[in-house]
Amino acid sequence: MTGNNDQEQQKGAPVIKSVKSEINNKTELIDVILAFEVASSQLRYKVFPYTENKFTYTDIPMEGRFWRDHTKAYPVNMDDIKDITIEEAIWDIIVAKQEKYTIKAIAIAFRGAVHNGVIIHTHRTNAQLQNNFHLQNNLKLRFMSKNHVAPEIFIENRSNMGAYGELYYNPEIESQNHSNFIYITIEGMLGAGVVIDKKLYLGKSGFAGEVGHIVLDSGSSLKCDVCNQDGCAAALTSGKAMVRQAIEQSQSNDTWVINAINGRALETYRTIDSGYWLDLNPLWQTNNAISVKDVLEASHNSETPRRIVEAAIGNFKKLLANIMYIYNPECILIGGSITDNAIFNQQVAVNQFPNVPAQIIPFFISPAALGDESALIGVGKWAFDHLMAKIMQNKNQL
Ligand SMILES: [Zn+2]
Repeated sequence: MTGNNDQEQQKGAPVIKSVKSEINNKTELIDVILAFEVASSQLRYKVFPYTENKFTYTDIPMEGRFWRDHTKAYPVNMDDIKDITIEEAIWDIIVAKQEKYTIKAIAIAFRGAVHNGVIIHTHRTNAQLQNNFHLQNNLKLRFMSKNHVAPEIFIENRSNMGAYGELYYNPEIESQNHSNFIYITIEGMLGAGVVIDKKLYLGKSGFAGEVGHIVLDSGSSLKCDVCNQDGCAAALTSGKAMVRQAIEQSQSNDTWVINAINGRALETYRTIDSGYWLDLNPLWQTNNAISVKDVLEASHNSETPRRIVEAAIGNFKKLLANIMYIYNPECILIGGSITDNAIFNQQVAVNQFPNVPAQIIPFFISPAALGDESALIGVGKWAFDHLMAKIMQNKNQL
C-alpha cells in the first residue's frame, strides 16, 4: 500500500481518494476483472487483466483496505462493519478503477453463505443477524443510477472461492490429479469449500462446507454468537475464539499482553489480515486490541496463549476428523490469514490423528498453495470461467 493510503486510513477517509491517487493518464483502457475479498479484518482487491482464453493471476499485486477508527491504533473487524459500508467501499473502488480500466466483470468473495448472488447468511455484531444482503443487485442499481451498463457481477462465498482457486492452481492437486478435497478458511471465523469430482459442491442453497458451526463439544460453556450453539467449531477453534479465551484468562499487566501491544509492528499489521482484533477497552479500559496473530506469536513462549492455542488446535483436529468421516477427502487444504503459523502446520499433519482409521486419513493436509490469496484468485478465475462460458454459449447460438 502507498503512504497516501495509510494516511487516509488513519483519518478514516473514504477509499476513493487513495485509489484515485494511483490513476495515471492512460487513454487506452485495458479490459480487467476486478476481484474483491471481504476477509476478516480487510477488504482486499486485485485487478486481473482480462483476455479471452487465458486467466492470468501471477505478478498481480494485492491491494487492501482496512477500516480504521482514527481514535484507535488497530483496524476494525469486518464483522463490525455494516453491509452498506462494505458496499460503498466496493463501489468507491469500482468507480476509481473505471477511470483506468474497462471492467468486464466484478467478482466478490464474501464471508457468508451466498445463494444465486444473494448473501443469505452472515454475521455482524452491529447489524441484523442473518439478513439477506442483495449486494449484486445493489451494485447493479448503482451502475444504473449513473446511466452505466453494469458489468457482470459474481458473488460467492470466500471459502468456496478459496477451494476453486486451489482446484486450478495448487501444483500438488494438479500433479497428483486429485478430484476430491476440502479447503478450510481459518481466520476470525471458520468455513470450508468442498470439491467433489473436480467440481465445487455448493449444496441446496450455497451452504455446503459451513463446517464452523459443527458442534464439537456440546458441554462447552463457550457459545457461538453466529449459530447460538454451545461448543461449535467457531466457538472453540476460530481466531476469534483464541483471542477471546486468551484475554479472558490473562491480566492486563501480563508480560505477553504488554509485549504484544508494544512489540507489534503496526505497519505490518496494516498490510496483512490479522484474523481478528479483540478490543481491550470493555475489559481493561485501554485503547488497544489484541489480534489472533498476537496470540499465536505469544504462544511460542508464554504459558497462557500456548495453552489456549494448543486447545484450539486440538479442537481444530476434531473438526478435521469429522470432515474425514463425512467426506473422506483425498486432501485437506488450510487457508486464511493465520495459517502461516508454524504451530498449526506442525500439529495439523496427517500423522497427528492416531484415532482416525488409517484408511480415511487424507494423502496430505497442507497450507493452501496460494496462501491467503486463494479466495481472491479463485473468485477472479470463477468470474473468468463464467464469462468464457457465456462467450461459448453465444458462439454456439450463432
Ligand atoms: Zn457456531
